[in-house]
Amino acid sequence: MAEYDFDLFVIGAGSGGVRASRMAATFGARVAVAEDLYLGGTCVNVGCVPKKLFAYAAHFSEDFEDARGYGWNLQDAGFDWQRLVDNKNAEITRLNGIYHNLLTSAGVQVINGRARFVDSHTVAVADQTYTAERVLIATGGWPHIPDFPGNEHVISSNDVFYLKHLPRRTLVVGGGYIATEFASIFHGLGCEVTQFYRGDLFLRGFDRGVREHVALTLRAKGLDLRFETDVERVDKQPDGTFDVTLKDGGSIQTDLVLYATGRRPNLAGLGLNNTHATLDEKGFVKVDDQYQTDDPAIFAIGDVTHTVQLTPVALAEGMALARRLYKPEEYHPVDYNDIATAVFCIPNIGTLGMTEDEARSRGHKLKVFESRFRAMRNTLAGRPEQSFMKLLVDKDTDRILGVHMVGPEAGEIIQGLAVAVKAGATKAIFDATLGIHPTAAEEFVTMR
Ligand code: FAD
Ligand code: NDP
Repeated sequence: MAEYDFDLFVIGAGSGGVRASRMAATFGARVAVAEDLYLGGTCVNVGCVPKKLFAYAAHFSEDFEDARGYGWNLQDAGFDWQRLVDNKNAEITRLNGIYHNLLTSAGVQVINGRARFVDSHTVAVADQTYTAERVLIATGGWPHIPDFPGNEHVISSNDVFYLKHLPRRTLVVGGGYIATEFASIFHGLGCEVTQFYRGDLFLRGFDRGVREHVALTLRAKGLDLRFETDVERVDKQPDGTFDVTLKDGGSIQTDLVLYATGRRPNLAGLGLNNTHATLDEKGFVKVDDQYQTDDPAIFAIGDVTHTVQLTPVALAEGMALARRLYKPEEYHPVDYNDIATAVFCIPNIGTLGMTEDEARSRGHKLKVFESRFRAMRNTLAGRPEQSFMKLLVDKDTDRILGVHMVGPEAGEIIQGLAVAVKAGATKAIFDATLGIHPTAAEEFVTMR
């Protein structure tokens, strides 16, 4: 008889937890996964997927405008928020079912409920306890809203997907991925949007050229971007609207306040103190480069650790850990270099590798290629908006160090280039590549 109920008990069925459980079970381990809220985790339920569906919805307003220049006569298109939410919910329910099938058909036992550690090898869910040789923490993150008077009136990205009504005016606070994406989504759906960012230019961590170009483009579309601006307090008015007082003494009125000010590890009630696992100085579960915590029986992956908070990263970590534990001959570490990423604001940002500041601070001598141009689609549409592309090339080796873009489908374009950069592409290889004409993407191989 086995010493433990399971070989591996996974806490959290999000991107990382589902991948790790499914692969470990496929490799022959006896696996259970406990999930508190929804199969597929943040990405499927309140993250990447519904966000992208909303971004598609938001895009139509510009498409309808542009269609006129191409000869189409469109009547008032109208927009039904509730239909979008209902259709999105139906799609997510479909995906939840797919995740359930993926897990159970791999032989994983799915346990519904919030799990907590009793000790290093014992996990409780409701009034049941389960033992396991190893436990994986894959509990992800949770939106963080700072303390200030009236913060009970603001919503987070978790709530935004279930709003009963589309507000007329929206204030978005934050200058990262979520804030910038939702500012565009609300704008595209027809709201008056104001975005506050506490620093001098939003999208910290992205290339400065990208940040400046996006700010310029969004302002030209009519978004009210305010930098060096932060909230002092939020007061709810008798008519249900909000009076937002700024730290500099000003104020604005709005119908919705969305805070997108980062996410913190989701550790509430987990009982980590009943194990030897510890937290790092930022409050993430501390792991070594093979996802081992300070407790020999416990591992952690994904957003609950100090990693890059992206679904493909959590997936890769889940895969690597399952292989390391149950198929070591196939194990190889996750390569965290040159992770491509996109911000699905309108227009998109796509980015890969180093920013110019980062490359210079690492001592690279650079050749910088930049291009700003009006995509052909915008000509008949009468849209003055320009796309931006930037290539950073190492002067000594000719290697491509960074690729950055702002423009339609930047995420799709950068994904293709990510393969080339991963393969060690040089500028000479880009130059030797013939473009596909006429596309926007061909600009990347014609920059001289
Ligand atoms: P999660 O997916 O968060 O899963 C953790 C799971 O654990 C959750 O289901 C939670 O309910 C469960 N859980 C927590 N505690 C317990 C417990 N004690 N017991 C049982 N279950 C528990 N990334 C991208 O790559 N592209 C995008 O476009 C993108 N868009 C995003 C948009 C938004 C609005 C947000 C919030 C995030 C977005 N992300 C995106 C980030 C991405 O969603 C995360 O990086 C990814 O989901 C992390 O996966 P994870 O497995 O670490 O955690
Ligand atoms: P980010 O870390 O990207 O951005 C947080 C923003 O909030 C920053 O602008 C930060 O400012 C600001 N901020 C933090 N604390 C405060 C505060 N107390 N008061 C005012 N402003 C504050 O977090 P998000 O919540 O946007 O997203 C979380 C993560 O999820 C992202 O980092 C990303 O990894 C992932 N994600 C990925 C997406 C994608 O791939 N398309 C989409 C959405 C999320 P400062 O810069 O000054 O620190």
